[in-house]
Amino acid sequence: MNTNLQTPIDYLKGVGPNRADLLRQELGIHTYQDLINLFPNRYIDRTHYYKINQLQRNNADVQIIGSITGLQEAGQGRSKRLVGTFKDDTGTMELVWFRGHKWIREGIKLNKPYVVFGKTNWFNGKFSMPHPEMELLEDHQKNLQRAMQPIYPSTEKLSNKGITNRVIIKIMQQLFLETKGRFAETLSSHLLQELKLIDKSTALFNIHFPKTQELLAKAQYRLKFEELFYIQLQLIIKNLIHKSKIKGFPFTHVGDLFNTFFNEHLPFELTDAQKRVLKEIRADLGSNAQMNRLLQGDVGSGKTIVAFMSMLMALDNGFQACLMAPTEILSVQHYNGLYELCKQLNISISLLTGSTKTSERKKIHESLENGELNILIGTHALLENKVKFKNLGLAIIDEQHRFGVAQRSKLWHKNTSPPHILVMTATPIPRTLAMSVYGDLDISVIDELPPGRKSVKTVHRYDKNRLKVFKFIRDEIAKGRQVYIVYPLIQESEAMDYKDLMDGYESIARDFPLPDYQISIVHGKMKPADKDYEMQRFIKGETQIMVATTVIEVGVNVPNASVMIIESAERFGLSQLHQLRGRVGRGAEQSYCILMTGHKLSNDSKTRLETMVRTNDGFEIAEVDLRLRGPGDLMGTQQSGVLNLKIADIVKDKDILQLARFHAKQVLNKDPNLSKDTNQVILHTYKQLSKYKNIWNYIS
Ligand code: ADP
Ligand code: MG
Repeated sequence: MNTNLQTPIDYLKGVGPNRADLLRQELGIHTYQDLINLFPNRYIDRTHYYKINQLQRNNADVQIIGSITGLQEAGQGRSKRLVGTFKDDTGTMELVWFRGHKWIREGIKLNKPYVVFGKTNWFNGKFSMPHPEMELLEDHQKNLQRAMQPIYPSTEKLSNKGITNRVIIKIMQQLFLETKGRFAETLSSHLLQELKLIDKSTALFNIHFPKTQELLAKAQYRLKFEELFYIQLQLIIKNLIHKSKIKGFPFTHVGDLFNTFFNEHLPFELTDAQKRVLKEIRADLGSNAQMNRLLQGDVGSGKTIVAFMSMLMALDNGFQACLMAPTEILSVQHYNGLYELCKQLNISISLLTGSTKTSERKKIHESLENGELNILIGTHALLENKVKFKNLGLAIIDEQHRFGVAQRSKLWHKNTSPPHILVMTATPIPRTLAMSVYGDLDISVIDELPPGRKSVKTVHRYDKNRLKVFKFIRDEIAKGRQVYIVYPLIQESEAMDYKDLMDGYESIARDFPLPDYQISIVHGKMKPADKDYEMQRFIKGETQIMVATTVIEVGVNVPNASVMIIESAERFGLSQLHQLRGRVGRGAEQSYCILMTGHKLSNDSKTRLETMVRTNDGFEIAEVDLRLRGPGDLMGTQQSGVLNLKIADIVKDKDILQLARFHAKQVLNKDPNLSKDTNQVILHTYKQLSKYKNIWNYIS
């Protein structure tokens, strides 16, 4: 009989109440199951021994045989430490303890052969190893069982309290002893055969105690697949349930407004990508299911017109539509752009933001409720409870990143049954990440820029070349162009950034004096009305230079602006740099992006700058960003649950992710209810899984 894996960890021989408490607190291990799923971070080869004279200054884990010939205290106060002189036949080094002196002093046998293991530091002309793991050579020889030794995740507290890696290994061995190493299978035999995966018990054994490199690789592969498979399965099922349960308003016909606009007023030919995406949206809107679609398209790819034409589909079917943008400036810009199009079609459209006057607000509320108003554009103000639609059929959210899931769901309740939802983002999300995070949304991609767009020339310049850069700016302005100069603004150093911005503004004002040059300045501390005023001056071409913090980051469209200067570019993230660059290159002229930095640059900063200079491709940039920052940072904490992967890495294991998604889809295509015999094990695992937050709490 299998041991019950829900048994509290306290009951495992060798654990006991104190250790159990520590394991719970420090590693979240409550049960046998949690322990079996504590996967090693890495493995080390414990068959190899270094000599002291072979040590390199690369801080790797090493294992050395030698003896401790003396122990002394050194240092005062906080730097007080116990130092052991450690010798082998090739040299001398130090072992150092900052804590636990008494325990060490009592435990250590001088001049007896030990095996010490740990990372070495090069310090004061000598190698030293802080807090080594140590074992008498004779014990070591008795205990040594296999070549690959697992290194488990640990915390400082655990090692201080004596729960070393060796102790965890012992506990793990005990677990395998008690369970006889037999664990229930969690993948169907069908999948195991088709993908030649090793069975669960073999995988778990070899992930902890690999017999060979090859078996370790197989164990990792199988467990990664399993983890990704069940995440995908969950997401796809969520999407299917959504489609079958949540009825949408079917927009049965493509009507007059859409056709009139398409045939008579469309200001340009749509790109193939825009056409394809519109078809995808139309198919969704025409079906009985509520649409939940993410529209990805690089800056300037023309998402707005797609949004507008989707709104026309809603209007043609007797519904209202709304478009929500993250900032006042963007909302205004959307409104101004769409207002012109609406006029041609006799459609009523209004703008609602935080600064809409009360009287105007009242009118909007009324006309929304009685249905006179067709389209509402605005900021978060749209989400307020007072904003009630007569019949909202489609809600579009621009720039997904700024809004959370909670806001998405607020829009849902703006009608008796949820409106169709289209989320637009200009930040390209790498496919792998989109699959894991938005696997429950449908995704459309505009992967083509409107024709004739020249790609932005990007260069990196150091601060000391500022004069040349200013000369370049002057030349461009002389040609009639406009220029953005952007300063970083990050919350933690807001005051300092603000000072940088103001200093920069002053120096620019000196170099570009009135009356020849007019400068706009926009930053977060300004009142919305002032901001808008300055923005408008720039949009109308009354000012040639716009000095700003990142408030201009999203969506702002001034086709005549052809130069983007980014100050302290090393402090921006890649996607932000790319977004900023997207503000230029919107007109017919050649555009430029100049990344200004100081001289000292970290490796990551260098990579970011090089990437920007090398490519304009948002998806490529997003991939690099994902590699540099990891998925959690990229998406914010909001989705981190989905990405709380234990063994797989969506960047490194994207092939496995794709395979897992493919098979999850295939299983569900053939057997949507998982009712076939072969899929019982999947159904069972899936059901258990939904009870837990982290899939590994259940799996095994
Ligand atoms: P984004 O996807 O960044 O929101 P926009 O919708 O603002 O892009 O479009 C950027 C610019 O490209 C706008 O000035 C828009 O009018 C123009 N545009 C969009 N689609 C096309 C097209 N198919 N042909 C030519 N210009 C287009
Ligand atoms: Mg846009």
